[in-house]
Formats: sequence, structure tokens, C-alpha cells
Amino acid sequence: MGKYIGIDLGTTFSCMAYIDDSGQPVIIPNREGKNITPSTVLFDGKNTIVGEEAKNQSILEPANFEQFIKRHMGERDYMFSTVDGEKYSPEAISAIILAKMKADAEEYLGDSVDGAVITVPAYFNEAQRKSTMDAGTIAGLNVIAIINEPTAAALAFGISKGNDKQQTIMVYDLGGGTFDVTILRFDKENIIVLSTAGDRKLGGYDFDERIINAVIEDALDKGLNIQADDIARQDLQLKAEEAKKTLSAREKANIVLNSGGKPYKYTLTREKFVDLIEPLLFKTVGSMETACDEAGVEYSDLDKILLVGGSTRMPLVRESIEEETGITPSSEVHPDEAVAIGAAFHVLDVIKCEKEKVVRGETSDKKVANATIPEVKKQYTFTDVTSHGIGIVVSNRNNEEINSVILPKNTQVPAAYTGQYTTTVPYQESLKIQVTQGEEEDLRYVTVIGTADIEIAPREKIVEIEVSISCDENSIIHVRVYDLDLQRDLGEIYIERVANLNEEEIRQSQQRISKLDISGE
Ligand code: AMP
Repeated sequence: MGKYIGIDLGTTFSCMAYIDDSGQPVIIPNREGKNITPSTVLFDGKNTIVGEEAKNQSILEPANFEQFIKRHMGERDYMFSTVDGEKYSPEAISAIILAKMKADAEEYLGDSVDGAVITVPAYFNEAQRKSTMDAGTIAGLNVIAIINEPTAAALAFGISKGNDKQQTIMVYDLGGGTFDVTILRFDKENIIVLSTAGDRKLGGYDFDERIINAVIEDALDKGLNIQADDIARQDLQLKAEEAKKTLSAREKANIVLNSGGKPYKYTLTREKFVDLIEPLLFKTVGSMETACDEAGVEYSDLDKILLVGGSTRMPLVRESIEEETGITPSSEVHPDEAVAIGAAFHVLDVIKCEKEKVVRGETSDKKVANATIPEVKKQYTFTDVTSHGIGIVVSNRNNEEINSVILPKNTQVPAAYTGQYTTTVPYQESLKIQVTQGEEEDLRYVTVIGTADIEIAPREKIVEIEVSISCDENSIIHVRVYDLDLQRDLGEIYIERVANLNEEEIRQSQQRISKLDISGE
């Protein structure tokens, strides 16, 4: 019988864990022996290299190198092109990373990986969540659930360090590419997410970019155009990140480059770094305030601020949190590993749920339900929330199309809305439902996620149709329809999603990726 694992598919690094037979979480090292794998891909002729080696060789072939793909998940228009003109969607690139991780896990565990829980930033929208699940499918992984990264970290914290007291906790998760702040309430056996806020494009990458831009500007003043030199630009990308990390321990860091045979040195002091990134830190403070407001709590109500994500190693981040809230943030969980461990714990919940479905005679994933699960010392049930409002396009009194929010932001999931609609003309053959994401009424400020085309049996009269729109535990939207006139359940309706691959594209991608020679070296 195969194993089920938790995967933190990060912007810069990814990490895997499982729960061993004694109920203990174990980080699964990659084939190179490291606990974390850079989420990077290098297309090197016949080989597709993933991880540390891809990063190391990136300077030789910057145009065949992809990193930070997570920032493009759910973007239909983004394609990575190799020098040879091969094009890969964000789902396909992520699938390549996942395929290497799956293979590494299978080698380490000496067993097949039958399924995985993959984590996503709490602030990811529906399209990004769907893309993540599709990436898993393309990689040949059975994605049994998606869980929010801060919730996973809270789960890992609760199981290892939790007590039975009720506590209100803020998880401040600043990773490589995304920022989430989540307010949770813990009691003896429940974790309830009260609110979530953040910025899906704010992370260590942006701090690196600020350094890079400062260096490029300074070098230009000295007559060197690093931006125009692909190799020096890629070298700078790696060295800017290194300098940033050095500043977490020292007062200054040097960046030494070589462009067109000319050496160049830039000294980054902490002071200069503060100037560069202060506006970004202000943004995170804004999200902390929003999350507290939406949860109805004050900073003084917080029992703890838990830090997660590699960028929380920066003293500047800790200082800005303490300055804002008066609370010294806690580093009780491992910033790189807690999320994968939480995902591995969540695997046990999902399997338990599938077993319960079998007992109740409901439809279940039989393979998952048959998996054996170890006893763990503490178990929590958790309830998460939608990070964005979900709505549908309707016509107002003036016959203008507007967004009608049916599941507001921060609604606990799973959640469903059922509405009754009527056909507008006799013999109508279909109804079109446009599902949106966003809080505003004005359609210019919301995103249409997709369209569900509902075919109905034409009748000479106007008929009533009941449409149920639900947001499942993974925050994925489903549309079900019931024909009230015929008293007939029309079942789940396929949503043609604007930003995601369709079923045929996923299948084609799967075939293509399975033929690649993917390795870590
Ligand atoms: P994560 O997505 O949680 O793996 O976080 C990765 C981000 O953390 C990257 O942008 C790293 O550059 C950053 N990071 C890791 N270690 C440090 C450190 N010591 N100081 C500053 N940033 C760090």
C-alpha cells in the first residue's frame, strides 16, 4: 500500500513531509539529501533539471531557466518559452517540480506516493487553487486536498506545541513570493480561521528585486549596463538574494559582479536595505490591520504571532511586527518546514473523512479510504474561510450587468448558496451562469472565474431552475442545478474557467510531461 504525503509547493522552495507509523512528522529529503528543493527548472537540451542544480546552472543558460513560477499560477496568458521555442504553462512547470518531488519521495519512502495534500497561500484565488490542483494531476499525483499555508502551519504548531486553552493567533507568513496574514482561534480540538488577508505578489522575491534595481542603477552610473547582460543579470539575481540573507546576520553585504570583463562591487548596508524595502513592509502592516478588522479582534486580543516563511528570518520583518503590535513574534515552528508538516497532518484528516463517508454509504475515494493512518497525539478539526468574495453576474433594475456577491469574503468553507432562476422566453434551451470572484458590485473590479452553461429541456412555458453554487473545503467552486418544473437533478455543471487549462489541455500536458527526462542533476 502506497504512502500519502504533504507538499509545500513554494515560490522559491518546496518541501515534503509525511507522518510515520508512530504518528511523528518526518521531512522527506530530496535525492540530493536536502530538506527543501528550490522550485526552479532548467531546460538543458534533452534533460529537464529541477532544484539546486538548476539554480546553480541558471547563469549559463538564463533563457532556459524558470523560477518563481508560483507567481504566475492562474494566469492564462503566461507561458514560459525555452530558447528552442518550447512553451510551458505555469501548471506544466509546477508539474515538473512536483514530478521530481514525487519521484524523490518514492525513492526515500521505498513505496509509491498514492496521494498528496498540496498547500497554497491563503490569499490564492480560485483560479490559482485550481491551477495548483491541475499541476498535481499533470504530475501524476492524486491531489486529495488543498490546504492554506497558514492553516497548515497552525496545525503543525497546534499538534506539536498546542495546549487546551483557547487562544487567538495571528500567522504571519512571508515567503518567497506571497504574503498571507491569517487570524485563527484555537481551542482544545478546533482551529477556526477568522479572517485572512495578504498580497499574492509580495515576498522575498520583491526584496531581491529592490536590491537588483538599486545595483543596476548604481552600475549604470559607473558605465556598466547589467540589465543588458543576461549572464550578469542572472548572476545578480542569485547574489542579491544571498546579500539579503547575509544582512539577516550581518550589518552589510557585498555584491561582486563581472560584466563584459569588468569587475563591479556594490556594498549593501542594512540602512540602505531598510530604505529599499520599507514601503513593502508597510504593505504587510496594512494587511495585518485588515485581517484583525475583519476578524473583529484588536492586537491586544492576540495571544501569539506565529512566523512562517523564509523571509521572516529577516530581523527587519520581526522589528516591524513588534513595532506595530507591541507583541514579540514567535518562531516556534520551523519557517521552512512547518507548512509541509501541517499538510502531512491534514492527510490524516482527509483519509479519516473518506473512511467516514464509506461508513455513511456516501460516495468516497475508495483507495484513499482504504489507507491506514497512524495515531497522532493530538487531533484538530479545522474550518477555513474564503479569501475572496464569490458572486454571480446578474442584471439590476436598469438592466445593467452587475456582480452579486453570494458568498462574502471570509465565509467559512464549505459553503453553498442556492438561488432560483427562471427562463426568460418559452422554449429556452439553456441558462448561462457567470461565476465571479471579488467584493465589488461593479464588474470592472471583479474577475469572472468562469461560465457554466446549463442545458435545459425546452418547454413552452417559463420554468424555474434552482442553481446551487458551492465553495468546497479546497475553496474550489462547483455549480449544481435542479430543474424545479421537472423535479429533476441535472447534477454538477462543468465550469469553463477563464484562467485555467481545460480538461483536454490538462490531458495533453500530462502526456507531454510524462515523456520528459526530469532529474535533479
Ligand atoms: P519560502 O517561500 O517560505 O521558502 O521563503 C523563501 C524566501 O525566504 C526567499 O525569498 C529567501 O530569499 C528568503 N529567505 C530565506 N532565508 C532567509 C534569510 N536568512 N534572510 C532573509 N531572507 C531569507
